[in-house]
Amino acid sequence: MEKICVAVRVRPPISQETANGTFWKVEDNRVSLHRPHGTPISGVSYAFDHVFDGSSTNSMVYDLLTKDIIHAAVDGFNGTAFAYGQTSSGKTFTMNGSSTDPGIIHRAVKHVFDKIHMMSDREFLIRVSYMEIYNEEINDLFAVENQKLQIHESLERGIFIAGLTEEVVNNAEQVLKLIESGEANRHFGETNMNVRSSRSHTIFRMVIESKRKETNSSGDCSITDAIRVSVLNLVDLAGSERIAKTGAGGVRLKEGKYINKSLMVLGNVINKLSDGLKQRGHIPYRDSKLTRILQPALGGNAKTSIICTVAPEEIHVEETKGTLQFASRAK
Ligand code: ADP
Ligand code: MG
Repeated sequence: MEKICVAVRVRPPISQETANGTFWKVEDNRVSLHRPHGTPISGVSYAFDHVFDGSSTNSMVYDLLTKDIIHAAVDGFNGTAFAYGQTSSGKTFTMNGSSTDPGIIHRAVKHVFDKIHMMSDREFLIRVSYMEIYNEEINDLFAVENQKLQIHESLERGIFIAGLTEEVVNNAEQVLKLIESGEANRHFGETNMNVRSSRSHTIFRMVIESKRKETNSSGDCSITDAIRVSVLNLVDLAGSERIAKTGAGGVRLKEGKYINKSLMVLGNVINKLSDGLKQRGHIPYRDSKLTRILQPALGGNAKTSIICTVAPEEIHVEETKGTLQFASRAK
């Protein structure tokens, strides 16, 4: 079992309002809550594999948390990278990036193609999918008409999503264009795209298949050894904030319940996995669509990283503690 790499990223303050409040101090791989005059608040200090402060860049996050997963994926190992945190803490900033600092997905896609271009002894087939899980329903972000897709399992294909678009791609630019159009799709019919995106889990998936090329004396390429297939998932999770905070009934409440349940199941699955060999036993992948979909790339010899994003503002202290507790359970 591969160890799950857990990191925390504190986003820079959006307003100046934080100056007089408690604040989160980052020192090496530790984040602690401090009083305005600088003294630590005892008992509120957590250590992780990495902690990034407000001056960190997506490039730094990528290098420490995702690069190895991408290398392994190209070599045939499954992998999953998550962004977890309350709405407005920086999940999408980390996964999708900005024009000046591309996010994890952009960097991963580039890296995959850079790496396979250097592996001239192998022939690659790359397929990508983009989906959201909204209220426990799976929707295809590459094709708006593909909604409420079902998860199936077969001997031949393992766990798969029936009807999900898989685009065969040849270069990074093509993938990034597809993602852009997928983003446009998700806004379809929504009055507030931000609300929708923070209420759903988004999974970008690459399936990397390769086989060895062998050149015989006449210069033809013939295929020898086994085919390698790996799945890479890059996941922007729904906002982890408690429902009460959004102060809404009806639709929002229903969404909140689904989100809380699936994030709780994710926490349970990861917790079981990180307990590893000590404590085998049942891992509740089947308790949510998210964990069911990710099952083949979560656990076993799959590589996993979680970046837990937190907001520095004092009004978010309770949510931030919740996120840090989730992160601690994942270690
Ligand atoms: P989430 O996806 O968790 O709801 P966002 O990624 O949308 O949060 O971030 C909320 C806001 O904060 C956005 O305007 C985003 O650009 C900004 N932001 C988040 N993280 C950072 C960061 N590390 N550096 C600069 N701006 C950030
Ligand atoms: Mg977001």
